Amino acid sequence: MFARLRGDFPILDARVGKSPLSYLDSGATSQKPQCVIDTFIEYFQQRNAAVHRGAHSLAVDATEAFENGRIAVAELVGGAPEQVCWTKNATEALNIVAMGIDRASRGFGGQAAERFVLGPEDSIVVTEMEHHANLVPWQQLAASTGAQLRWLPVTETGELDLSSLETIVDDSTKVLAFTHVSNVLGTINPVKRLVARAREVGAYIVLDACQSVPHMPVDFTDLDIDFAAFSAHKALGPTGLGVLWGRTELLDALPPVLTGGSMITTVTMEAAQFMPAPQRFEAGTQPVAEVAAFATAVGYLAEVGLEQIFDHERELAGILLDGIAEIPGIRVLGTAENRIGTVAFDVDGVHAHDVGQYLDGQGVAVRVGHHCAQPLHRRFGATASTRASTYLYNNAEDCQRFLTALAEVRPFFGVQ
Ligand code: PLP
Repeated sequence: MFARLRGDFPILDARVGKSPLSYLDSGATSQKPQCVIDTFIEYFQQRNAAVHRGAHSLAVDATEAFENGRIAVAELVGGAPEQVCWTKNATEALNIVAMGIDRASRGFGGQAAERFVLGPEDSIVVTEMEHHANLVPWQQLAASTGAQLRWLPVTETGELDLSSLETIVDDSTKVLAFTHVSNVLGTINPVKRLVARAREVGAYIVLDACQSVPHMPVDFTDLDIDFAAFSAHKALGPTGLGVLWGRTELLDALPPVLTGGSMITTVTMEAAQFMPAPQRFEAGTQPVAEVAAFATAVGYLAEVGLEQIFDHERELAGILLDGIAEIPGIRVLGTAENRIGTVAFDVDGVHAHDVGQYLDGQGVAVRVGHHCAQPLHRRFGATASTRASTYLYNNAEDCQRFLTALAEVRPFFGVQ
């Protein structure tokens, strides 16, 4: 099946100079199958209208496309469609939670929002492996409320060090925000263990699911979390669309950050009442074509099967890790057994940007730099790394082409 579905992705036929393309940068953004591209185009050709407002047929049709997207996502990650709020990307979704708590702490949102109030006696806990999108908003919240920011450290194997979990997450902890899967190390974190500790101390749990939802079966209800965020573009969908998922009673109590049209019930010259979720977080005109296209992407993922996608990528990760182990002078960052098909490494004596450029010359697309995880790189004594990340359309040949090119890097740059 995996060999066949590669043909669904037109961009994979592209050539880079004289070389065929081996795209190993899906951790940054995924490629799109033709059916997703078609839905996007067809939306504008056949369905385009303003949602939720018009009484005309096109508006009804567009609204249906928009709301069906919500149903599709709820089927993918669990919960009810009303728990799925559309955002611009995962970064915006995480900011909505952090900034909503900030607004609650400054007296917005009335009595319902009091449950979110943070102060100097409270703590927020993150991890050392967070993408900046799930770190900087919490730093901002800590700075604004006086709450203490703490973090769970990362071990040499690239796993969370939970030896001090009970002291780091304690009775002062009001928010525990962590990534499900590291975008650098590929490590899958023990969500249930972390959730159990958060529940013991009554902290809200915010899950960054950017690198899990596209690659493995994920059920937010079963994981028992409070809020989650992910981006459509990493899961075969278009750019410009993200998801904020939350428990209904929490979403309905969280003060919105963006206010204006389409999210109110009544407005006077002095004040406004807000709608419940999801509309309360969807001010202004929404990315309807993106939602329609994402629904097709979600359908595609479900048809292939996330269990199967996970196994396929694990197999590719095995090829990558075994092959890299044979090449002298390469240090893999993180060796966790429980992982997805993402492998980051450092090449002794060659800067990651030079590695990336050499690989690109051979048609192999990887990511270089700090991958928006500077503290994690600092933890491993590096400022940058090279990352190969796989997806359902990659095959063993992509991995072999990558390994052949990687073996040439140090000799090419004259490093002994
Ligand atoms: N969190 C993780 C783990 C990611 O990998 C990314 C993207 O690389 C993000 C958050 C931010 O996603 P976006 O840039 O789509 O908002």
